[in-house]
Amino acid sequence: MARVPNPIRSLAEPTAAYIHVPFCRHRCGYCNFTLTAGRDDLIDRYLAAVAHELAGLRAPKDVSTLFFGGGTPSHLPPEQLRRLFTIAAEWFWFAPDGEFSLEANPLDISSERLEVFGEYGVNRLSLGVQSFRAEKLRLLERDHSAEDVRRVVDLVRKRFAGDLSLDLIFGAPGESLDDWRRELDDALTLRPEHISLYGLTFERGTAFWSRLRRGELVAQDEESERAMYLEAVDRLTASGYEHYETSNFARPGKRCRHNETYWAARGYYAAGPGAARYVGGTRETNHRSTTAWLARIEAGQSPVAETETLNAEDRAREALVLGLRRVQDGVDQTAFREEFGYDVGALGGDELTKLVAAGLLEFNERRLRLSREGLLLSDWIWSKFLRC
Ligand code: SF4
Repeated sequence: MARVPNPIRSLAEPTAAYIHVPFCRHRCGYCNFTLTAGRDDLIDRYLAAVAHELAGLRAPKDVSTLFFGGGTPSHLPPEQLRRLFTIAAEWFWFAPDGEFSLEANPLDISSERLEVFGEYGVNRLSLGVQSFRAEKLRLLERDHSAEDVRRVVDLVRKRFAGDLSLDLIFGAPGESLDDWRRELDDALTLRPEHISLYGLTFERGTAFWSRLRRGELVAQDEESERAMYLEAVDRLTASGYEHYETSNFARPGKRCRHNETYWAARGYYAAGPGAARYVGGTRETNHRSTTAWLARIEAGQSPVAETETLNAEDRAREALVLGLRRVQDGVDQTAFREEFGYDVGALGGDELTKLVAAGLLEFNERRLRLSREGLLLSDWIWSKFLRC
C-alpha cells in the first residue's frame, strides 16, 4: 500500500508518563490487574526499584501528564507516597499547566493524604467507587459503602483543589436496569468532572471466573448489558457530559489528557510492574509479577518481559482503532494522513466499506466515527482493522 512519507508524531519524544503502583489491601474477586494484595512489606523495595528503573531514563524528561495507576496508589501511607512523588519529580519535570492524576480507593482518602496530594501537585483524583448499592459492593468485594463515598467526596471538595473522576461498574450479576439507573443518579448527584464506566467481565484466573464456572454467579446477557451501556450514554450526555471515549465521559474541558495520549497513539514513558511504555515506536512491557519485577531490578537485570516494534502500517492500524475509540472526535482523515502517513480509506479497505454500509461506522465530513450501533460492537470492529 502506498504510504505518504511524513514526520510521525507518535515517534516523537513522549510528554506523558505512567507509574504503576501494585499494592491493594485485598484482591477484589473480579480484578485481574497487576497487583499484590496484603504485601505492604514490599513497598520500600518497590520505591527503591522504581527509582532504579527511572534512572534508566538517564536525563529528566519534560512531561505534561503524569498518571499514577494501580493497584491502588492511594494505599501507600503518606510518607511512602511522598517518597514516590519525590522520585517521580526527579525524573519527570512536570509542566505547570500539566495534568497529574492518581487512582484512589475511597477509604484511603484522609485529610493527611489529600494534603500530600496538594503538596506535590496532584490535580486529578480518580476514585474507585464502582457502585452505590450495598449488595453490589459486597458482591464486588469492595470495602466501602455509599455513605463512605459521599463523605469522601465532601472531604475532597473541601480539601482538594483538583478534578474528580468516578469509576463505575455495570452489568453485575443480578443487577437490573432500574438498579443501574439509580446508580447513575447517585453518581450525577455528586457532580464529578469525569466518569469512567466498566462493564463487568469475568477474566480467566480471577475468583469471579471460577465462581462463574461453578455456577455460583450468573453473567448478564448481552442484551441487558447493552441496554445498561446505552442508558448510561443517554443519561450522562443529557446531563452535560461529553461522551468523548467509548467508556469515558467528561464535563467540557475535563477530559483525561493522559488517556487521550494513548488514544492519539502518541508515546509515553512508564515504570512499575506490568507497566507498558511506548517510546520511539517500540512498546516494552514490564514483568507482570511484582516480585519478579523487583527481583530483576535488584539483580541489575532489565524488568522488561516483552518488546514489540511496530512497523509503519501496524502503527497506523493501531492508531485508527485507538482514534475510533474517541467517539466524539473520531478520526480526522486529513490529520491521520499527515500524522501516520496512510489514507484511512486505503488502510481500512473493504472491511471499512462494509462497516460503513452496515451503519456501524459513519463519515461525517472528513471524520470517521463509530455510529450508535457501532458503539455496541466496538471490540468486533477493532478486530477487522488489526492484524494479529
Ligand atoms: S482495589 Fe482495584 S486494583 Fe485493587 S483489587 Fe480491587 S479492583 Fe483491583
